[in-house]
Amino acid sequence: VNEPRGRGFARKSRFNISLSDSFYRVIARRRAALAALVCVFTFLGGCTKKTLSKAQAREVTAEIVAATQQATARKSEITIRPEAATGGLLARRAAVDDIYVTLSDPAQLVPLRRSLSDIARRHRLTIEESATGGVERLNLASDGTRTHTVHVVTPVGARTRAVAASRDSSAGGNGPRLAIILDDLGYERAAANAALALPFSITVSVLPNLPLSTEVAEEAYRRGDEVLLHLPMESESNDAKPEPIELRVGMNAQEVEGALAGMLESVPHAVGVNNHQGSRATSDAALMNELMPALRGRNLFFIDSRTTAATVAYGAAEHAGVRAASRKVFLDDTQTREAILAQLDLAARDAARDGFAIAIGHPHPATIEALTEGIPRAEARGVRLVFVSQVVR
Ligand SMILES: [Zn+2]
Repeated sequence: VNEPRGRGFARKSRFNISLSDSFYRVIARRRAALAALVCVFTFLGGCTKKTLSKAQAREVTAEIVAATQQATARKSEITIRPEAATGGLLARRAAVDDIYVTLSDPAQLVPLRRSLSDIARRHRLTIEESATGGVERLNLASDGTRTHTVHVVTPVGARTRAVAASRDSSAGGNGPRLAIILDDLGYERAAANAALALPFSITVSVLPNLPLSTEVAEEAYRRGDEVLLHLPMESESNDAKPEPIELRVGMNAQEVEGALAGMLESVPHAVGVNNHQGSRATSDAALMNELMPALRGRNLFFIDSRTTAATVAYGAAEHAGVRAASRKVFLDDTQTREAILAQLDLAARDAARDGFAIAIGHPHPATIEALTEGIPRAEARGVRLVFVSQVVR
């Protein structure tokens, strides 16, 4: 296992180990500052709290990676991500290494779990396990402070792989294509778990810069889902809660570029974007004309969520040569199973008429329930569930 030098997460090695030293340095600095601060506050108590040093933490990380490779016969994909800062200095705790593992065989979890317990014992760490949404999370902690989380992901199954395999092809079959996007992922763990646990692959759109953004995007990708950046944009309405960082009317190309780059860093594996809110932003031609070249430069496509009839985003995308499509149906404006099933039927009818349709929902319990019931029903009638990347043009 080699640790990549240089910036960015994207470096790929044989095992897809990605790690950023500069990132580590930033975190180490923050952690040192925080430790100093804690020491000041606990000075009278003698500053006796002993947590893992940076070097020890990295040693543990290396041991976890080695154990994972052994447990999976070197066939699994492993990624290491030092936890991104999610707020001010005082808002964050110590740095945590998130280690993502995709198992090719669920049986590999047994030896992996045993090895991780051994590692924890040797380093006097506690280990605690939780399983939700097809993801097993093993949390290691030093003196009550979490130091490592190993996310063990098993793809949904043969059914998912069939869809996932068509990711790069133009998808076989001639039936109408239906793409479902679940928006607003990244806020709540429970919502993400419910989306990840769906028995078929879906396109999930993850809000950037939230504590769960990276983790949810990474897990969704490993489950076999497609990931979009849910790009926050300025809304017309005063009651919509603005995101801390969003595209606003009046931003210049550089500001748009900077905001987009930062957002994409927290949403790995994004192959496209769709707008979150944005009734004001998407109806502003100048802003959309700044955005589209930035997407094109990254080979990202654009899905117009159509939060306003006055949107000019699709036209701007087309003009800039960005692959694009528009949302046809909102699934869950009314959050009841019946209403959502009816919207899903509507989307299936649109798909039959036009060849394809995009429907957008949210990970509400009623939506998850309706999709679980309605998608197999639509498929039985010849509709093909596809990723949104398969309907952009
Ligand atoms: Zn949204």
